[in-house]
Amino acid sequence: MDYAFTPDQEALRGHVQELLREVCPPEYAERCDREARPPREAYEALAKHGWLGLIVPPEYGGSGGSATELAILLEEAGRHFEELAMWVFRTLTYGGYAVLQHGTAGQKQAILPRVARGELSFCFGLTEPQSGSDAAALATRAARAGDGYVINGQKVFTSGMDISDYCLLVTRTTAAEKKQHGITNFLVDTRLPGIEVRKIETLGHRAIGTTQVFYRDVEVPASAVLGEIDRGWEAVDAYLWYERLCLSAARTGAAATAFDYALAYAKSREQFGRPIGKFQAISHKLADMKVMLDLSRTLVYRFAWLLAQGRATRHDAAVVKLYTGESYKAISDLGLQILGGYGYCMEYPMQRFFRDSRLAVIGAGTSEIQRNIIARGLGL
Ligand SMILES: Cc1cc2nc3c(=O)[nH]c(=O)nc-3n(C[C@H](O)[C@H](O)[C@H](O)COP(=O)(O)OP(=O)(O)OC[C@H]3O[C@@H](n4cnc5c(N)ncnc54)[C@H](O)[C@@H]3O)c2cc1C
Repeated sequence: MDYAFTPDQEALRGHVQELLREVCPPEYAERCDREARPPREAYEALAKHGWLGLIVPPEYGGSGGSATELAILLEEAGRHFEELAMWVFRTLTYGGYAVLQHGTAGQKQAILPRVARGELSFCFGLTEPQSGSDAAALATRAARAGDGYVINGQKVFTSGMDISDYCLLVTRTTAAEKKQHGITNFLVDTRLPGIEVRKIETLGHRAIGTTQVFYRDVEVPASAVLGEIDRGWEAVDAYLWYERLCLSAARTGAAATAFDYALAYAKSREQFGRPIGKFQAISHKLADMKVMLDLSRTLVYRFAWLLAQGRATRHDAAVVKLYTGESYKAISDLGLQILGGYGYCMEYPMQRFFRDSRLAVIGAGTSEIQRNIIARGLGL
């Protein structure tokens, strides 16, 4: 067993760190959050340096990186700004990975080189008002019409729809006894007539945020189908595993920044004539935070390795999502406590981690659902 990164992987991390230190400093992340505006300059800088081609194979203009390299990119992006990491992850998962896995030769030729050049952004439309945790119970309908399909329905929480070129949309094409059957995925051009997007005000993730999307008689060509008709759920499952790696890596990076901030504060803030970090009540919090961070990183890179080997299981995906999400939330909460009243103030960064981390245990499968998956694997 070898826990070391290769020299190339260390170099990758170094390059991304150096670039993001320049184009995505803390003040920039804070401004994007405060003004609710996407970190476009930072995203474009990553694209310009070729990072959006990381998992795209060389024949489509990318560098063909593995899941481990993807985790490094997202951990570093998350360390600088979680919303930037979210944008990168959505495009690489739903535009890169999904098209690579299930796209036709034509879709690969048309999409992958543009993903690699950073010319296209993607988002994911799965959740509906009546189907959240019970995601396969979705009702958005794609009906055959002439050479193409007509889509009708409503999605909620499609994050980044308003800044995306395509939405990987999960629809029902055939009514089936088993809800996981009869599902088909489409790559829908987000600017098609009949699509209405409404922004949702949220506690955190304010720079890009999320939306409600209405599909009214939206006509799409048959070439927009991604993968097999009526057998899309298996593909969604694969995307969700990939998503869990990306989110876990990004959130571990964000948790590391929250931890670093709290540690530096505990060393510099003095009360009762000594740094507050010298009080055991504070130093033990930091020790617990450090253990959670170390374990989160270990789980992220173990899961990346399992994915790359084709050995990942539903259990592994649930464990990494559950642990890293709960740890990020706990680290931000403890960090806020360490800052005392200043943690509660908007001009200090800890409140952003506190707000953003709340989604880590809700989005992409709540912690309760991850525990259900783990328990089911135990025969419970
Ligand atoms: C900011 C934000 C961004 C998001 N981005 C996206 C996106 O880009 N694309 C997308 O498709 N979706 C997205 N989501 C949706 C997200 O994945 C869902 O919110 C999540 O899966 C939970 O669904 P729900 O909100 O309908 O809650 P519900 O399913 O109604 O759950 C409510 C509560 O009941 C619990 N619960 C439900 N079923 C069970 C059960 N069987 N056992 C135990 N407890 C249970 C849940 O854990 C939760 O605590 C986003 C959500 C948010 C808030």
